[in-house]
Amino acid sequence: GPVVGILALQGDFREHARVLDGLGARVRLVRRPEDLDGIGGIVLPGGESSVMDKLARTFGLFEPLRERLRAGLPAYGTCAGLILLADEIEDGIAGQQTFGGLDVVVRRNAFGAQNQSFETDLDIPELGETPVHAVFIRGPVVESVGPDARVLAALDDGRVVAVEQGNLLGTAFHPEITGEHRFHEYFLDTVRAAA
Ligand code: GLN
Repeated sequence: GPVVGILALQGDFREHARVLDGLGARVRLVRRPEDLDGIGGIVLPGGESSVMDKLARTFGLFEPLRERLRAGLPAYGTCAGLILLADEIEDGIAGQQTFGGLDVVVRRNAFGAQNQSFETDLDIPELGETPVHAVFIRGPVVESVGPDARVLAALDDGRVVAVEQGNLLGTAFHPEITGEHRFHEYFLDTVRAAA
């Protein structure tokens, strides 16, 4: 199958590597522009989106990766990775940029100081009958969804926490740390279909 890249500048890229390895994918950690050569998809991990943005620019990775995403490279972002795929951040730190591609506006650290981390179960019919156990760690919320993006999951109060658009998938939570593999399988299907 195609090689799947994982942006490995910062954050929980090892957890994603473990899940993808377990699913039999060929994995490559991406740190330099040449690491993008030949990958069939890329995972953007959880971590700190403003730091990943800065490091990507420092390593000369920002523009080449943005171009690859614009050209249709499949990508799956979790938490900070979702922020990096959003077209707009409502409250980014000064100068913070995103790769974009998802027609959404996100708000970082959206769940408030008292409850920035919590767990819940989500019904996501696309992934089958068993609910997804979702762990949020200082996660973002999708504040608005444009016409080109599609909601995959929302909390009981309606706040959107998973979206997709074309070859792009984003979740505000972290399947890579809970033994939940269905998002990664769903993403690998997209990668294989795009190859
Ligand atoms: N709050 C972080 C950010 O803004 C995301 C947290 C996470 O990825 N767990 O990038």
